[in-house]
Amino acid sequence: MPSLSVRRVIAASLSAALLVSTSGATFAADEAAPTPIAPPSLDLALATLAPRSALLAGDTAGAIELAKVRLPACEIKDTPTRYGKVKQWKRTLLDTNLKLKRTYKPWDLVSVSRANISGSGKVRKVIIDDLRALARAARKKGKPLAVRSAYRSYEYQKSLFDYYVRSSGYAQAIKFSARPGHSEHQLGTTIDFTTAPSVPLKTSFGESPSGKWLARNGWKYGFIMSYPKGKRSASCYGYEPWHWRYFGRNLARKIHESGQVPRRYLYENFETAP
Ligand SMILES: [Zn+2]
Repeated sequence: MPSLSVRRVIAASLSAALLVSTSGATFAADEAAPTPIAPPSLDLALATLAPRSALLAGDTAGAIELAKVRLPACEIKDTPTRYGKVKQWKRTLLDTNLKLKRTYKPWDLVSVSRANISGSGKVRKVIIDDLRALARAARKKGKPLAVRSAYRSYEYQKSLFDYYVRSSGYAQAIKFSARPGHSEHQLGTTIDFTTAPSVPLKTSFGESPSGKWLARNGWKYGFIMSYPKGKRSASCYGYEPWHWRYFGRNLARKIHESGQVPRRYLYENFETAP
């Protein structure tokens, strides 16, 4: 953990949505600080999302063998993803190996404020209507949601990852932050939610009333949690209850009903499809 003064300097160089907290108490950046990485045993014990996925996309080798297709290991490589064009956004699979080009940038980025949700950042216009509906439904239930981070360019992701390498070392950084080109935030359809704009990203969000509501209802509005609890071997990342990718309502329903993590669903249905 760098000193507060160093962190302030770094904060100044990054955009406001991702800054480390100036209170000095916590990291606030996405794919967050080393602390949210739960030990494997905790991951397994707390696997609560989508029970079927325990059989189809679980953490043990035996469970993985039950699935039809063997997911590739989460290797640190740089293979261009199969659906790497902006218009193919619903099918685009990104992980520690598959990546987008540096030049991938959606043409229809707009402020999240258009969805009448607090927080800042940009998302693709195609998600605004459902984001507005999600935020409104959450608000009506007294479970407020805010956007902490949304679209991130390749260059921004590079600066973020480099920062983590400097502050925590490569071995740690690679566990909780995506390298440039590998982040779903570059799609412009992925959002990190918190309960209010000033609240940093923490795994405790998953236990908050807002986080629990989102986990139950996000799919109905087209959003799926990319990195649920206990699914690191399938998703390639530790638990991130704040990180939600938009697929549209139809595909989100299918992914939800499959009980699979998005990486497995996309791999089986699109990435390796004929
Ligand atoms: Zn995220």
